Amino acid sequence: MNLPDHKTKIVCTIGPASRSEAVLEELIEQGMNVARLNFAHGTLKTHKEDIRRIRAVAVKLQRYCLIMVDLPGPKIRIGKLRDDSLLLEKGDKVILTIRDILGTPDRIPVEYKRLPESVSPGSLIFLNDGFIQLQVEKILADEVFCRTIIGGPLLSHKGLNLPGVKIFTDVVSESDLTFVDFALEEGIDTFGVSFAETADDIMKVREFAGKRGKSVYVVAKIERAEAIKNIDEILDAADAIMIARGDLGVQIPLEDVPSVQKKLIHKANLLGRPVITATQMLVSMTENIRPTRAEVSDVANAILDGTDAVMLSEETAIGRYPVEAVEMMAKIATSAEREWEAVKALSDLPAYFRKGEGYGKTTIKDIISLNAVEAARALNIHYIIVPAQSAGAPCLISRFKPDCWILSFGDNEKANNFRNLSYGVCPIFMENKTGSRLDMIMEFIDNSGIAQRGDRVIFVEGTAADDMNGVDLLRIITVR
Ligand code: PEP
Repeated sequence: MNLPDHKTKIVCTIGPASRSEAVLEELIEQGMNVARLNFAHGTLKTHKEDIRRIRAVAVKLQRYCLIMVDLPGPKIRIGKLRDDSLLLEKGDKVILTIRDILGTPDRIPVEYKRLPESVSPGSLIFLNDGFIQLQVEKILADEVFCRTIIGGPLLSHKGLNLPGVKIFTDVVSESDLTFVDFALEEGIDTFGVSFAETADDIMKVREFAGKRGKSVYVVAKIERAEAIKNIDEILDAADAIMIARGDLGVQIPLEDVPSVQKKLIHKANLLGRPVITATQMLVSMTENIRPTRAEVSDVANAILDGTDAVMLSEETAIGRYPVEAVEMMAKIATSAEREWEAVKALSDLPAYFRKGEGYGKTTIKDIISLNAVEAARALNIHYIIVPAQSAGAPCLISRFKPDCWILSFGDNEKANNFRNLSYGVCPIFMENKTGSRLDMIMEFIDNSGIAQRGDRVIFVEGTAADDMNGVDLLRIITVR
């Protein structure tokens, strides 16, 4: 038996670029474990053909390939565009219509009939996972007049988001259940539930299948703030989760997605629920044969955080290099998994020093700098203060990533500028006058208003004349 070099699982979205027997065969050979059929696109006829072809290829290669039907859910999409794509430029006027027409750059159909009553003048409308932003100017009974704030290319059936707006549709709609019915007939037993908000959304699919005498696996797609709030009940009800970062990054602040991703992976790992990290993982490979370094790091980091599976969307559905994208994912997974133990061990820097390992062996400066950070955390102290003479101290303290700021005083502009590179270090110019350094710094703190009387600060200093880069003194001082 030939086992692959990597253990991370690869989910590929099947579309025009990958539905041929030849490409499917290569995808499986390169490491595709799950073929995802996104029922928001395509027809039942093409889905039926895809299901049969994927099965036939898997049988031919004697490999497992799970087929997951991803239900569209209440995702609002634009309709079909006359030329299948168009370009919106900043400042362009565009009308979103609920009438059933073929879209043009002036008038784009939207499948959600309650759009006009869901928005008001000034509302923002996001298209294509937020890459295009429109602002509403005027609303008629069946049309919403907008101006393009951020332009870009748009393809038929791309998603439309209304951040903060309550959508008047069920998470699992009648049309989703029609898809479940169709898929069950085709022998499919794994379903993705888009925009899941509660355990009930998961149970609706499970119970529907149950009434037809079928037991199914349900993958909850986490892409709404409500799902994050209800994650415990969702994890309880679902068989697996997908971190659907495309819509998630519009529904919650984009900058929150990485930490939410880490927390979701951790929670799913705790319960032993498989977790898929999805969307834009190698998106530049839709057009280019090589991914960006940032994308490679994104895939590797998800694996190092504990994801079970990584997913490709347009890369394999409509991209120019579907096979190369899977091959690249497999290579990244192989490398990340090989380094997993070593990298994990590095992440807990304090433990490293507490165990006496350090660089060779833990020293006084390691213990003082670590304890300064731990004291600040335990005593809720907002500043660790380092006087000019202790040249190496700011970097030594900064490596433990304290919650508080490190105020680094000095009269050497070159050194001050360089210290600004370190995490949490705030360089402050202070002339090196004669007299007590501590008094001068405390006077500065008093005058600057950053601390109140009674607050405590931590003072860290190196006093050994023979070690300018060391620290050997830690004091906790109350501001008077
Ligand atoms: C996503 O939003 O990240 C996602 C995977 O869902 P879809 O591709 O259905 O938009």
